[in-house]
Amino acid sequence: MSGNTVRQQAISKISKFKTSSPALNYKETASGTLFGANVFGLGAMKSHLPKDVYKSLKKTIDGNQPLDPATADVVAAALKDWALDKGATHYAHIFYPLTGLTAEKHDSFYSPDGEGNAIAEFTGKKLVQGEPDASSFPSGGIRVTSEARGYTAWDVTSPAYLAETTNGITLCIPTAFVSWTGEALDTKTPVLRATAALSTHATRVLKLFGHENISAVTSYAGCEQEYFLIDKNFFYARPDLLNAGRTLFGAKPPKGQEFEDHYFGVIPSRVQAFMFELERELLVLGIPVATRHNEVAPGQFEIAPVFEGANIAADHQQLVMVTLKSVAEKHDLVCLLHEKPFAGVNGSGKHLNYSFGNSTQGNLLDPGATPHDNAQFMVFCGAVVRAVHKFGGLLRAAIASASNDHRLGANEAPPAIISIFMGEQLADVWEQIKAGGAKSSKAGGSLKIGVDSLPNLPRDAGDRNRTSPFAFTGNRFEFRAVGSSQAPGIALATLNTIMADSLDFVATKLEAAVGSGKPLNTAVQQVLQEVYTEHGGVVFNGNGYSEEWHQEAEKRGLLNLKTSVDALPQYETKEAIAVFEKYKVLSPRELHARYEIFLEQYVKAINVEKNLVLQIAKTLIVPAALRYQTELANNAAALKAAGINGDTSLLQKISGLVGDLHGSIAGLEKAASQHGGSSLLEEAKYFRDSILPAQLKVREVVDSLEGLIADDVWPLPTYQEMLFIK
Ligand code: ADP
Ligand code: MG
Repeated sequence: MSGNTVRQQAISKISKFKTSSPALNYKETASGTLFGANVFGLGAMKSHLPKDVYKSLKKTIDGNQPLDPATADVVAAALKDWALDKGATHYAHIFYPLTGLTAEKHDSFYSPDGEGNAIAEFTGKKLVQGEPDASSFPSGGIRVTSEARGYTAWDVTSPAYLAETTNGITLCIPTAFVSWTGEALDTKTPVLRATAALSTHATRVLKLFGHENISAVTSYAGCEQEYFLIDKNFFYARPDLLNAGRTLFGAKPPKGQEFEDHYFGVIPSRVQAFMFELERELLVLGIPVATRHNEVAPGQFEIAPVFEGANIAADHQQLVMVTLKSVAEKHDLVCLLHEKPFAGVNGSGKHLNYSFGNSTQGNLLDPGATPHDNAQFMVFCGAVVRAVHKFGGLLRAAIASASNDHRLGANEAPPAIISIFMGEQLADVWEQIKAGGAKSSKAGGSLKIGVDSLPNLPRDAGDRNRTSPFAFTGNRFEFRAVGSSQAPGIALATLNTIMADSLDFVATKLEAAVGSGKPLNTAVQQVLQEVYTEHGGVVFNGNGYSEEWHQEAEKRGLLNLKTSVDALPQYETKEAIAVFEKYKVLSPRELHARYEIFLEQYVKAINVEKNLVLQIAKTLIVPAALRYQTELANNAAALKAAGINGDTSLLQKISGLVGDLHGSIAGLEKAASQHGGSSLLEEAKYFRDSILPAQLKVREVVDSLEGLIADDVWPLPTYQEMLFIK
């Protein structure tokens, strides 16, 4: 296709695509030597640090001892030597502000020595603490502008690494980001705090089951990241993708995902080249990739790194998102992480596989080989049931964003109702526990629920349920409602907090019963029966997309918080404030700040979209429509002059739509000139109820025009082009 519009030029460039990334020689580079090559992990620490310092640091990393400040100088010196050796010139404190993104503050290792030379310097103080200007990050009122200082504090539990670009190497140090008052301004700090609380109460339960050697418990997370890839030239020709991350216009392509021919299909070679390089980079950063494949929608793919401890998994997940984007760029592609970049085809999620355990007892959500292990498993599983039921609203709030709203509840992603899929066999065991524990098992025979008599449990839930937001998958839960662009730390901190609460609850009950002389068997049966009777309503094994479920869920009293604006006020409930405060994860002020920040981001996101809709409609679509209208009018006039009785119905249609377009633009402008009210919540509601629908009206007209206007006049790359040209 040739022509002069930006779009036409973009398309003509596609055929000239050549990868700009260097060829990789896989035969010469053994993958064994790639893993963690750029990471100052335990191995590097061991060889670069004095024995006692290494030992002390290891204890801190394992969660068994606070950081000894005296070691910081030694570690800093070793880190510097290691990094300089590998060619680094700069170091950066990496942090995760509440925008959900990754932020970094770079500094040079070198400073002038006063004699015309430069020396490489890196002290313990510089390692431990940084001071980025916090005023450009959201604080939700925690930081008044006169106190703009924020601190980044070294997170010793997440290893430092080298970020390598063609132009230089930077030592990256994962940090927590806090205000000058010590309040969390990031997504990492709450994960660390909540994991500590989870460990305390999980340990109590383990003690009841007679374990003596118990190491710190952590949660594990493995994120399945979905994303779209499109050619870079299309991206730059779409102001909406460029600035809002999703298409605000675009008619459904003649071919969509109806053939389901993309899912697990052959990965296109250009994408494979991208994936190989992506995985190599991740490997070097110490992030092993478990799976990769095509997803349901055309142009959609998935990558799942192997699960790790929550804090590192969250950091690594942020790094995966950054690396996806940077490697795509090298291949002249753009990676879209938005939850719904294209209407009419599936959106993208980030299934968060969640479990918890430690190095001594293993995965505590793994039903064991013996009935005794299974009883312990049932206690932990019961704690999950209680947590998700009691705090479903908080889980919904943890995944709230303007972009994830486009995905949740649609027939492709879990509904906004938070429920648990258990699988038939496990659900049956639960029903029996509820009924008193003495009944026949599903497999026949009789069983009595108790520590020593639980039946063997399914090690694989078998029938995977794709419609449940929170599904048991054999030895973990899969929180499927998390959005593709979201910082996993928010969901993880919430999960660990509500689990700490539930484990505290069951441990307290069991301790009291056992303390008063009851056998553990009896105590476990009683507590589990009580928990399931009260909270079993959250378990649902059916089709989460069905209308009946929506009605049934309402009967069961489960929340159905359809939009972020419905969900975010959950942060303001008594229960939320209490649970976050009790387990020292977020103070009421920190929690309230989050509520404000997330609402504000919701409004800002839609406001940008609204501006883009107006700009694109007025400067790209209206002119194209008028041009085509003129062409048709000229044609009609010419035919008339020649005495030919032409069909003018297309001209009529276009003229009608041009009128509608002007009308819908005026409608959106009018809506934009008004306000929802003085509170942030009212404003957010207004954006949801008035701005979004007015935006959609403009889109409807534009998408109709796209189906009629001559292809060489249409100014935007189409869905067909973006999704299918690879
Ligand atoms: P699916 O079959 O759901 O598509 P994938 O194999 O794509 O699963 O991804 C599963 C993810 O779950 C991976 O990131 C994997 O490392 C992670 N995972 C596996 N076991 C656990 C566990 N016990 N706890 C947390 N995550 C886990
Ligand atoms: Mg998967």
